[in-house]
Amino acid sequence: MIDTVHAIQAGVTLAALQRQSLLEALDNRVLLCHALELNRIALITQSERALSAGEAQRFAALVQRRLAGEPIAYIVGQREFFGLPFEVSSAVLIPRPDTELLVELAMDRLPAQGRVLDMGTGSGAIAVSLAHTRKDADVTALDVSADALAVASRNASNNNARVTFLQSDWYSALQGAAPFDVIASNPPYIASGDRHLAEGDLRYEPVGALTDHADGLSALRIIIAGAPPHLKPQGWLLMEHGYEQSAAVRALLSDAGYTEVQSWCDLAGIERVTGGRLTA
Ligand code: GLN
Repeated sequence: MIDTVHAIQAGVTLAALQRQSLLEALDNRVLLCHALELNRIALITQSERALSAGEAQRFAALVQRRLAGEPIAYIVGQREFFGLPFEVSSAVLIPRPDTELLVELAMDRLPAQGRVLDMGTGSGAIAVSLAHTRKDADVTALDVSADALAVASRNASNNNARVTFLQSDWYSALQGAAPFDVIASNPPYIASGDRHLAEGDLRYEPVGALTDHADGLSALRIIIAGAPPHLKPQGWLLMEHGYEQSAAVRALLSDAGYTEVQSWCDLAGIERVTGGRLTA
């Protein structure tokens, strides 16, 4: 019976560690694979294998971190997004499945050999997925954080994606750059003081990637106001936002003169991405 981390000791079998776990079954399996450098199949085929003292110690340390609340993705240093493996660290937001919607919408609107910009790239999830899937695309990604850009550029090379990275506070380093067919962004959009910031994985994520320290719309406003000189005629601006922000973002786009303003739903049926295009 595994009822404390101290019970994870030499001699305990993989089967016992899965029958009786301190964590959710999936978290437990992921950490067990990580600690023992095994794949999922091996957990089944080697179920009677007993842990060595070193393995037990390694696994117990990971379980302890998870019990303290640290996100699984940071503990194992990786998260899958758009079918690709992404390195993650506490310098970057953990990619969410919801954001795959933004990648698909950007890809659908990107002409052959088109130019696309990812603003606030973080781990590089959006830019790298686009560049990996659309080898013809000319992909630029920017972030204000040098630490995030280091993670993103490793993700680009590990996933065989050609991306130009720029350290930039929103549009500031883009002066003189050629305009884009599509600008996509998953900016910080959680309002300061939102209780979600103090819950679950978000407690461990970079605060500057989550909140604008204001009403949640300030980064979206900057992106919308600054996009026109960087968009080609007919170009699209697409932004992810919070579950209650779609009407506000549509209004910001319409007021700024964008056309075809609309929102798209994520897998949960929540309006999650809003965009519009510029007519010349
Ligand atoms: N989608 C994230 C969350 O709600 C927030 C990401 C962001 O602020 N861009 O957990």
